[in-house]
Amino acid sequence: MKFKQDFFTQLPEFYAQVYPQGISNPHWLAWSEDAAKLIDLQQPTDALLQGLSGNAAVEGASYYAQVYSGHQFGGYTPRLGDGRSIILGEALGPQGAWDVALKGGGPTPYSRHGDGRAVMRSAVREFLVSEALHHLGVPTTRALAVIGSDMPVWRESQETAAITVRLARSHIRFGHFEFFCHSERGQADKLTQLLNFTLKQHYPHLSCDLAGYKAWFLQVVQDTAKLIAHWQAIGFAHGVMNTDNMSILGDSFDFGPFAFLDTFQEDFICNHSDPEGRYAFGQQPGIGLWNLQRLAQALTPVIPSDDLIAALNQYQHALVQHYLMLMRAKLGLAARADSTAEQDPQDLELIGRFTVLMEKNQLDYSNTWRRFGQLDPSSVHSSLRDDFIDLNEFDAWYQTYQARLGKVTDVEAWQQARNSVNPKYILRNYLAQEAIIAVEEGNLAPLERLHQVLRQPFAEQVEHEDLAKRPPDWGQGLIMSCSS
Ligand code: AMP
Ligand code: MG
Ligand code: MG
Repeated sequence: MKFKQDFFTQLPEFYAQVYPQGISNPHWLAWSEDAAKLIDLQQPTDALLQGLSGNAAVEGASYYAQVYSGHQFGGYTPRLGDGRSIILGEALGPQGAWDVALKGGGPTPYSRHGDGRAVMRSAVREFLVSEALHHLGVPTTRALAVIGSDMPVWRESQETAAITVRLARSHIRFGHFEFFCHSERGQADKLTQLLNFTLKQHYPHLSCDLAGYKAWFLQVVQDTAKLIAHWQAIGFAHGVMNTDNMSILGDSFDFGPFAFLDTFQEDFICNHSDPEGRYAFGQQPGIGLWNLQRLAQALTPVIPSDDLIAALNQYQHALVQHYLMLMRAKLGLAARADSTAEQDPQDLELIGRFTVLMEKNQLDYSNTWRRFGQLDPSSVHSSLRDDFIDLNEFDAWYQTYQARLGKVTDVEAWQQARNSVNPKYILRNYLAQEAIIAVEEGNLAPLERLHQVLRQPFAEQVEHEDLAKRPPDWGQGLIMSCSS
C-alpha cells in the first residue's frame, strides 16, 4: 500500500495518534478482490495479515483515531470519536485515495467504556453489507477484508474478536462538524479548517469561501437525499442513523443492526435498542433531514442561516426526485414527458399503492419486484396476480399501472431492464446469520459463497437459487442487537 497522509499532516488537532494492539492467531475470514483493486493490492499475503491485524507495522501508515461528536437517538453526546477504529492513512489507488481503517483494532483515547474491539459476527456483517450495497449500486464505504482471531471478547456472552478492514473515501462525519462547533474547544477557525480540508479533498471544484461553502452544503443535502432514496428503493434499513454515523459524502456508513427488508413492512425496526422506531425503515427520509438540520446548526458560525435553510428546503425535492427515478425503473415506467409537477403525484401514488398492497399481502419486498422481470406487460393477465390475496385491489392497481405503462414493443428487452434494477440476491439477515454460524464452526465456505453471489445481485445464478429465498420461520424479521 502506498499512503498519503493529508488528514494526519493537515489536521493535527482533529485526532489522537494511537497504535493498534495485535490480536492472537490472526487469519483471513474474508477478502474482497474488488475492494483490493481500489488500493492496488493483489493478494492477501502473510505480511499484509500481520500488518492489518495490528501485529506488525504497516509501512507508511500513521495510525490515528479521529475525534467527533454526534446526536445519538436524538440526544447530543459532546464527545465520541473513533473508539475502536484506527485509521492508517489514505491509500492511493487508480481512481483516487481511500482511508484504510482497522475497525476493531484496539482501544483508543475515545473508547470510553468499550474494549476497542469488534466481534466476528459484526465484522462479517459489515464486510458483507459494504460489498453487497456497492454491487447494488448504492453509495457506501467498502470493506477489504475480515481478519479473525482467537482472542476472547465479552458481549452478552463470550465471543471472539475480529477486524474489518474498512475503506472509505472519507471518514468525515456530520459529527466532526458538530464537535468543532459545540465543544468547549470549538472555535470558528477550527470549523473553517475542517471545512476547507473537506472542500480541497473532495470538492476541488469549489472555492474555500462563502460561495463555495454554500454550494458545498447544498451538495451534502442532495447527496444525503439521494442516499436515502436508494435505501428506500432497495429496501434497506440502516438501523442507527445517529449523526456520527452519517458520512459527509453521502455514503452508507458504520453498519450495525441493519437489515434488508424481507416481508415488506413500512415501519420495520431492525435495531433491538430502538423500541420506539426512531430509525424504522419508513422514518429514514425524515431522519435524514433531521440529521442535516443538526449539521446545518453546526455550520451557523460559517454559513448564514438563511442560506442553510434554503439548502435544507431542497432536501425533500431531491429525495423524491431520486426515489421516483429509481422506482420508475423498477416498474418499467418512463419518466413523464409532461412532468412539470415537482413530485409527480400520480406516479408517487401508484408506487405507494403498490407498497401498501405488498404490506397488506405480506409479500417479500425484493422477490416481488423481481417478478416484474417475468411480467408480460402487454397481457391483461398478470403473472404477479397469484401472489396477492386481495385480488380486487390488485386488479384495480394493475389496471392503473398498465394504462400508465402504455404499449411495450420489445417485451424481452423490457423484462431484462427490470432484472437489471430489481435484484435477485440481497443480504438477508438470515443468510448473514447462517454464514456467521458456519464461521463459528470453522467453515468459511458459506460466507465465501454468499459474498460471491452478492457480487452479482442482478444475475440469475442457477446453482445459488436457494440464496434468493424468503427466510425460514426462525429467520423472519430478525431484530439485531446493537452490541457489536
Ligand atoms: P456505533 O454505535 O457503532 O456507531 O458506535 C458509537 C460510538 O461508540 C463510536 O464512538 C464508537 O467508536 C464507540 N464504540 C462502539 N463499540 C465500541 C467498543 N467495543 N469499544 C470502544 N468504543 C466503541
Ligand atoms: Mg459509529
Ligand atoms: Mg460503529
